[in-house]
Amino acid sequence: MKLYNLKDNSEQVSFAQAVKQGLGKQQGLFFPQDLPEFSREEIDHLLKLDFVTRSGCILSAFIGDEIPPEQLATRIKNAFTFPAPVTNVENDVATLELFHGPTLAFKDFGGRFMAQILAQVAGEQPVTILTATSGDTGAAVAHAFYGLNNVQVVILYPQGKISPLQEKLFCTLGGNIHTVAIDGDFDDCQALVKQAFDDQELKQALYLNSANSINISRLLAQICYYFEAVAQLPEDQREQLVISVPSGNFGDLTAGLLAKSMGLPVKRFIAATNVNDTVPRYLEDGKWLPHQTVATLSNAMDVSQPNNWPRIEELFHRKSWPLSELGYGVVNDDVTKETIKELAKHGYISEPHAAVAYRVLRDQLQEGEYGLFLGTAHPAKFKESVEQILGEELPLPKALAERADLELLSHYLPADFAKLRAFLMERAPKSL
Ligand SMILES: *Cc1c(COP(=O)(O)O)cnc(C)c1O
Repeated sequence: MKLYNLKDNSEQVSFAQAVKQGLGKQQGLFFPQDLPEFSREEIDHLLKLDFVTRSGCILSAFIGDEIPPEQLATRIKNAFTFPAPVTNVENDVATLELFHGPTLAFKDFGGRFMAQILAQVAGEQPVTILTATSGDTGAAVAHAFYGLNNVQVVILYPQGKISPLQEKLFCTLGGNIHTVAIDGDFDDCQALVKQAFDDQELKQALYLNSANSINISRLLAQICYYFEAVAQLPEDQREQLVISVPSGNFGDLTAGLLAKSMGLPVKRFIAATNVNDTVPRYLEDGKWLPHQTVATLSNAMDVSQPNNWPRIEELFHRKSWPLSELGYGVVNDDVTKETIKELAKHGYISEPHAAVAYRVLRDQLQEGEYGLFLGTAHPAKFKESVEQILGEELPLPKALAERADLELLSHYLPADFAKLRAFLMERAPKSL
């Protein structure tokens, strides 16, 4: 597999390099040179396979012979150990539940696949994963790498801006997992990570690697569950499918669009955001004007400079799709709360991120269409807000209950690169 840097097309790398490097020069994103496509017959065949087998076909179409198919199959089997069920919500609307993994959010798919691929391609070299999280990436990455040899993980997150249970889930592991609460917002954390990757000395001392949604392996993994969703739908709904994706950094939507580019039948996609609405405003008037990030109920989407957007633009360009085909909508916290109540009336307990996606889908779905919104997190992950909105208690799933009483092991730093740099240098592998 060949990939090129979107900021400097002359930088071309293999899949293994792209996974190890994360970002290219000038913090450019890697994008696949070849965009594999399946015929209609091949798609129909794929949709009959089980999730893990089908995912092997999808991923090897991109990765090619860089990883032998049998080894890739084993990696996928190790990563995708939990299902992605489609659950009916209304006659014409269903949700794809992506939260049945160990950290109860869709980021388990990408995080676990990436950990498997790094283990495959890294060899003997000890690496440091440095990543910023608005909540769920951190948990997924921490759990995916916890206890793996030769890998340490440093996770930055905005102090006080993720849910207390979310924090418990990944800041209580210890061992090779170091968590750092930053006095700032997610964009500050993301900026610190970018600065670290620009610092050549630091990068080499620690063999820095990023694991947030910019890593191409995470995106590729996420393509697989869009196929899984369509496989579960009745055949007569497939042609009329509209998928609404709750979006923050826009990795999930990028993966969905890549699935469509491979031939998966999806009529259109909708980018649903909270009031951090840089992309919807851009789609409205063509102006890219990020505002200050605002804290919302759907905090994993509190991103005003979505990192993956250039990949979406590139894909539309490569496929000659007009950007106007992409649906969009913005949902504020009040409407999010009302929507969680509305979903509960339909007998479905949801959480703020999925509710944002459902709201925009419901408002824009047309007669004869069939809507699917992504359920990106388990409602219990946002227990405090969901319980308050619904006025009822939610049981804690086991993965959370086990960690709820453990002590937080996080370090605390200001949003200051010099401080972070010193913290990292102290943790450079001694043998180097
Ligand atoms: C990360 C996350 C999102 C946003 O996904 P992106 O790929 O960053 O757009 C939505 N919902 C939840 C629960 C998340 O954790």
